[in-house]
Amino acid sequence: MESCIECCKPHTELVTWPSLRGKVCLVCEPKLYAADLEPEPECIRSYGGGDCRGRVTYRASYARTGLQIAECSKHQDEAAERDERLRRDYPDSSTPQARFAPSYAGESWDGDY
Ligand SMILES: [Zn+2]
Ligand SMILES: [Zn+2]
Repeated sequence: MESCIECCKPHTELVTWPSLRGKVCLVCEPKLYAADLEPEPECIRSYGGGDCRGRVTYRASYARTGLQIAECSKHQDEAAERDERLRRDYPDSSTPQARFAPSYAGESWDGDY
């Protein structure tokens, strides 16, 4: 009986897993498949090593661009702090000022009053 190269237990039914160059059991196969589809992302602030801590997960961008940003837990904490500071210093920064041009506001307020 062959052994699964992932859990090292003998199994009657094994499937070939090409990237591991061996055979895995039917218990390990779905797990490996899921891991293969979602490899752990690299922290965008790691700069090739550096001072990352904890797991790298995706978070939504604070700029609300819909972008998903991969960061380790340490850098996510730092980003959250930075965002909080920005909101405190510039409370209106999230308002899209460009849409409310002064001329437009002037026209609409000088109207039929
Ligand atoms: Zn196995
Ligand atoms: Zn990091």
